[in-house]
Amino acid sequence: MSDTNPKSIDDGVVVAMHYTLKLDDGNQVDSSKGSDPLLYLHGHGNIVPGLEKELGGRGPGDIFDVTVAPEEGYGPRFPDMIQRVPREQLPQEIEPEVGMPIQAHTQSGEVMTLHIVEVTETEIAVDPNHPLAGENLHFSIEVVSLRPASAEEIEHGHPHGPGGHHH
Ligand SMILES: [Zn+2]
Repeated sequence: MSDTNPKSIDDGVVVAMHYTLKLDDGNQVDSSKGSDPLLYLHGHGNIVPGLEKELGGRGPGDIFDVTVAPEEGYGPRFPDMIQRVPREQLPQEIEPEVGMPIQAHTQSGEVMTLHIVEVTETEIAVDPNHPLAGENLHFSIEVVSLRPASAEEIEHGHPHGPGGHHH
């Protein structure tokens, strides 16, 4: 670590952190343990807003738990948005499975990701909600290290290198 590395987390800082994510039932849905720390660029919406806010001002070695409500996590869940689609509308090469993400185009041409939540012989049900929508997110965080972002990283809005974005 050089002396030029930032001492605390602020906009434009690349943060390396370990995290574990559990839901209300204690189920662990994700963790960086056992692999490289996650890298993110602070202030660019790389992570959910409630977690990013809690990380501001923290420094290397800080360990803390934070609970993020859906409003500052992956948003509320809208159960009415689940849609049933005849299987023949899927591209031939796709063998649908529950949990599989598929890309769809909205009428305005935007690409959105849907998750398959049910598969029958004749149709599938797709859910536009994020899989973690409506969930309280219980994070355990360990801030590992900080460094300044490069101009290119600021321009792209994400960090590069191991644990970050690959092009
Ligand atoms: Zn990039």
